Amino acid sequence: MKLFEQQELSLYNSLSKKKEKFQPIHEGAVGMYVCGPTVYSNVHLGNCRTFLSFDLVFRYLKHLGYKVRYVRNITDAGHLENDGESGDDPILKKARIEQLEPMEVVQKYSVDFHNVMAQFNALPPSIEPTATGHIIEQIKIVEDIIEKSYAYEKNGSVYFDVVKFNEDHEYGKLSGRQLEDMIANTRELAAQSEKKNPQDFALWKKAEPQHIMRWPSPWSDGFPGWHLECTAMSTKYLGNHFDIHGGGMDLKFPHHECEIAQAEACNNESPVNYWMHANMLTLNGKKMAKSTGNNILPHELFSGENDILSKAFAPTVAKFFMYQAHYRSILDFSKDALEASEKGYFRLMDAYRVLGDIEGGSDSSFNVAEWRQSCYDAMNDDFNSPILIAQLFEAAKFINGLKEGNASITEEDLNLLKKTMHDFLFDVLGLIDAAAEGNADSNKLSGVIDLLISLRNEARANRDFATSDKIRDQLLEMGIQLKDGKDGTTYSLS
Ligand code: AMP
Ligand code: ZN
Repeated sequence: MKLFEQQELSLYNSLSKKKEKFQPIHEGAVGMYVCGPTVYSNVHLGNCRTFLSFDLVFRYLKHLGYKVRYVRNITDAGHLENDGESGDDPILKKARIEQLEPMEVVQKYSVDFHNVMAQFNALPPSIEPTATGHIIEQIKIVEDIIEKSYAYEKNGSVYFDVVKFNEDHEYGKLSGRQLEDMIANTRELAAQSEKKNPQDFALWKKAEPQHIMRWPSPWSDGFPGWHLECTAMSTKYLGNHFDIHGGGMDLKFPHHECEIAQAEACNNESPVNYWMHANMLTLNGKKMAKSTGNNILPHELFSGENDILSKAFAPTVAKFFMYQAHYRSILDFSKDALEASEKGYFRLMDAYRVLGDIEGGSDSSFNVAEWRQSCYDAMNDDFNSPILIAQLFEAAKFINGLKEGNASITEEDLNLLKKTMHDFLFDVLGLIDAAAEGNADSNKLSGVIDLLISLRNEARANRDFATSDKIRDQLLEMGIQLKDGKDGTTYSLS
């Protein structure tokens, strides 16, 4: 029996604004789409928080035994604020500033993003499609929407007709906004625009002559609107109707609202069963953002090179800090909070390691099975990681009692406790035991040095002093000093 048949998972659906029991469309399988980064600069810790929130969702669904297809795109074209009516494509802007090809900008920051995610021990998605790799699919959707008469062409650009769509659908149902209110607030903006209405959004934009990222289309040489790529890539890989769509809270409107409108215009059905939105990471009470400079970069945190920080923090500690807040709560970044999380993280890792030295006895003074279910209950309640972590601390307290001889556990319970701690710390939260990793590395290093010492001994026995000296001298250059004594050769690291 799969775990998901034993555990009842509920999650908060931003569309219904309620917690709902999770029921995938296809039994045992989950399709999940998460909006990925716009790759024109390094991801900051705020971006990371959203991606780590969904890493937790991905990991827990997999842990429960679901077969998950997780699609997370890379926005490498067309992310224009206000449909380009104010401002430029950020990738093109960056390419000009850094004197790079736009695709070099995209490559540079995609690589940075992947490195950062790997440092956080986040699992790669199942598919990571790019907007520029799906232009044909996007053009097809624009044609489809025009055919259904929810879009119109103007001077080579194509706009989604929100007012027309709202006549027989509900534009604003995700964000809770009323089209009438939006229109009332923006009436005076309409005049200089190509749009019939300021709420209309671009599906295709005709490129100005200096715009180098451009593709041919039936309307003009141009590029797709930002919202279109996610509709194209999610439906291509997950179908017209799929289980989960996620992203940061700030994408709810207009991005996700427009995605719903595009998909409904094409297929006349709501594309997604569960919309999930992760809340913001703030710094000094304000949203971390690329544009304002109010942000911290992952490498600054890992190296401690930022005046806000007292010292460096390991990626796994930063991840633990983020998971001590629920993904739907705002989390404010501070060095004090990070330091407290670091202590907590070490406490849990120490407890886990101590568990290896404990021996089972004849009775248990802790109900392990009940505690284990509380861990699941926490995650089943809309991925409540702070409650899960509180449960793990409960177990750590008990483990310390075992160490001090104030508590007892049977062999069977001990095995269940070890397995559950391992499952939640490493599989579900995806933490890393930094000290154990360090030990593993130093074990490997001493194995390699021992091997070199024995090769050097062989060389000396064969009177091949050139080789034996080479080994000694080159190790010394690397800061590893060999010392020959009467009991053999030892070494020291400088
Ligand atoms: P972007 O690269 O700007 O498209 O953002 C990538 C993801 O990071 C989106 O899901 C955003 O909602 C999310 N995001 C941006 N700023 C923050 C923040 N301060 N806290 C949490 N998530 C954020
Ligand atoms: Zn998106």
